[in-house]
Amino acid sequence: MFSPEKSYFSIAPCFSFTCFSFRRSRLKYFALITAFLLATPCAVAVASKEQPSSTPPAPQSTDQERTDLETTDVEKTASPDPQVTGSDSTERDTKEPETTEAPPPESQQGVETAPVVENLSLLNASIPPGQFQTLYWSPGQSFASIDTPVPVLVAHGKNPGPRVCLTAAIHGDELNGIEMVRRLMYQLEPVKMNGTVIGVPIVNLDGFRRASRYLSDRRDLNRYFPGSENGSAASRIAYSFFNKIIRGNCDFLVDLHTGSLKRTNLPQIRADLSNETVFEFSRHLGGITVLHGRGSEGTLRRAATDLGIPAITLESGGPNSLDESSVDGGVKALETLLQNLDIQPTVRFWGTPQPVFYHSEWVRSDQGGILMSDVELGDTVREGDVLGRVVDPVSNTGSDIVSPLSGKIIGMAFNQVVQTGFAAYHIGEAKTPEEAKEEAQEELKEESQESGSVQSYPDDPETAPAPEDTEASMKKISDSEGGSENAE
Ligand SMILES: [Zn+2]
Repeated sequence: MFSPEKSYFSIAPCFSFTCFSFRRSRLKYFALITAFLLATPCAVAVASKEQPSSTPPAPQSTDQERTDLETTDVEKTASPDPQVTGSDSTERDTKEPETTEAPPPESQQGVETAPVVENLSLLNASIPPGQFQTLYWSPGQSFASIDTPVPVLVAHGKNPGPRVCLTAAIHGDELNGIEMVRRLMYQLEPVKMNGTVIGVPIVNLDGFRRASRYLSDRRDLNRYFPGSENGSAASRIAYSFFNKIIRGNCDFLVDLHTGSLKRTNLPQIRADLSNETVFEFSRHLGGITVLHGRGSEGTLRRAATDLGIPAITLESGGPNSLDESSVDGGVKALETLLQNLDIQPTVRFWGTPQPVFYHSEWVRSDQGGILMSDVELGDTVREGDVLGRVVDPVSNTGSDIVSPLSGKIIGMAFNQVVQTGFAAYHIGEAKTPEEAKEEAQEELKEESQESGSVQSYPDDPETAPAPEDTEASMKKISDSEGGSENAE
C-alpha cells in the first residue's frame, strides 16, 4: 500500500538529480532524457501525495455499534461464568451512552458490512451474539413440585458460523461426557467465536441422580428418539428434547457416551459412514478412531441424521467412572472439531491429525466364569494372541480367549463375572477412509435388501419393560436392540 510519508522520499532524489544534470553542459542531452524519464514517476509520486489517505473507513466500528444497539435491547440473566459475562457486560456498558441515541453514521452508507449475527432464540430465551448463558429445559414429565429443569449451556458467538450441539449423559451413568462438556464450554469465548455451541451436560438428570443408565421407568432414553408427543414417559421426554433443543438449532451434533455395562472404550467416533455428509463430518475430529455404525433406531444420533443433521457419537471410557485420559482425549477431539469448523481455534497440538478408520469385531467368551484380561485398552495384538481367560471358580476349569485377528484393542470389558457368549474385546483393523466408506455402503445395501430384518423399537407395551421387570431383563431388552456391546 502506498503511504504519504514514502512519497516525500521519492520526490527529493528526482528533483535534485535533475538539477545537478543541467549544470553540466556535456551532460545536457543526457540530462534532458533523464529529466523526461524521471518526470513520470515523480509526477505519479506527487499525485499520490496529493490524494487523500487511502485508509478505508472502519466497518468494524460501525458493526460494533450496531451490535451494541441490538444487545442493549435484550438484557439477560447472568451467565454462570462471571468472567465471561462480567467483561462482556462491562464492554457494552461503556459504549451504550455513545451509541443508543446517535443516528447511524453516514460513513456506513455504501460500505460493505459483515453479516450481522442475530439473537439466538432457544427455550423461550433470546441470546445476543457474543454471550454465554445457561438456560433450562424441562421435560415436564414429573409432577411440577419435584420437576428439576435440565441446564443447557449456550455460547452464542459474536460472528456468524455453524451451530454445534453437544449432548452428554443421555445414559445417566456415563460421566466422562459431562466433564467433557464442562471443560469445553467454559473455555469458549463467545466474543471471538464464529458460530454457536450448545452443550447439554446431563440430558438424563433423572438417571444421573440414581447413577443409572436408564430413566426412572427403567427405559433407555436413547431408544426413543425422536419421540412422540403422546407416547410413554421416555418417548415424551425424547420428543420434548428433540423438538425444543435439537430440531432447528443444531447444524452438527456430537452425542457423548462411554462403553456400556462394564465395558470401556478408547476415544472413538461411531458414525454412519454410508452417509456422505456424516462421513465428511467424522473427519473433523483429528486423530481419533472412527467406526462405522448406523446406530440403533431410536438413538439420538440416528434420529438427528434422519432429520438431515450430521450426527456422530463420541465414546470415551467406561460407565460410572471419571477417567482423565478418556476425558482429555474426548475434549481434544471436540476442540479440534471447533477449530476445523472455524468456530474457535485450539491452543493444543493434535499429534496425529488424521482420523483412523477401523473395521472392528467383538471377541466373545466361549465359557462363563470370571474374566481376567492379559491385555489393555489400546494394545496392539496379533492373530492367535491370548487376550485373557475365563475361569469357573467352582470347577477350577478355564479357557483362554484368543484373538481371531490382528489389530488394536479399541474397547474391552472390565474384569468381571461373565456368561458364555459375553463380548469381551473389541478389536479394530485399520482401513483407509475409502475402504471404510465402501464397507459401510455395502452394509447398507445388504441391510435394505433384507428389509424387515432391521429391528424397530415401537413405543408399545409389547416391547416396553413391565413394571416388575428387573435390571437383568432391561439388559436383555437392551441387547435385543442392537447389542449391548455396541450400545450407545
Ligand atoms: Zn451411552
